Amino acid sequence: MFILNMVIFIVGLAVGSFLNVVALRYLKKQSVVLPPSHCPKCLTPLKSGDLIPLVSYLLLKGKCRYCQEAISPVYPIVELLTGVIFLWSYLVFGFSLQFLEFIVLGSFLIVLSIIDFKEFILPDKIVFYSLIAGIILKIGYVVSGSNISLLLNNLAGALIGFLFFYLIFLLYPEGMGGGDVKLSFVLGLFVGFPQIFLWLFLSFFLGSLGGVLYLFTLKKRVKEPLPFGPFLALSALITLSWGTYLINLYLSLIWRI
Ligand SMILES: [Zn+2]
Repeated sequence: MFILNMVIFIVGLAVGSFLNVVALRYLKKQSVVLPPSHCPKCLTPLKSGDLIPLVSYLLLKGKCRYCQEAISPVYPIVELLTGVIFLWSYLVFGFSLQFLEFIVLGSFLIVLSIIDFKEFILPDKIVFYSLIAGIILKIGYVVSGSNISLLLNNLAGALIGFLFFYLIFLLYPEGMGGGDVKLSFVLGLFVGFPQIFLWLFLSFFLGSLGGVLYLFTLKKRVKEPLPFGPFLALSALITLSWGTYLINLYLSLIWRI
């Protein structure tokens, strides 16, 4: 069991290293396949020994082997996060369609979060691909035996999420980007109804919590605002994992009052 967990974690690390490439090459407007991986400073092509997820960063102590330039900590952080998401998915869902859904959505959200942190945008193209992936996965549930009403349920989630965010966007355009509004449609589709309400609550709760922590810790050093996309992402992953449980817990507490 431990070995299987490790294998899933390591596969996640490897996928994370690919997601780094996708996000950073998107930011640089480069192709995902060409040119081969190289140091952004000295442009030396990297050998396979420099490209082992997490391990290479630790062995090289965060510096390029050839020019000693510091390697961005974004790389190992993203690799580690992806490994954690893969393991998280397996521990919650086992091998199932939900496992696949979770790692696919998680991977999209990692790429979107990297770009949102760096440039404060959620690119339409990537949000659109995640929507297509979501639709295919939800149809997959129906094909594998779920009731067709599931699709209506997911559509309801998407519309509620979208309308809620669109309303905020209209009332307070400085506080939210159009990308957040589009992503809320996709994430609403993934989490469905009534979990959409939990997702909305968590997004704003975690977003405010993150905002306060950020103000008190980093704000003095970093002048930029905090992107909202990563909070939407984390809330969606929590809702997919424990949404039904948390909603039932909430309802049972309400009944007691
Ligand atoms: Zn270098």
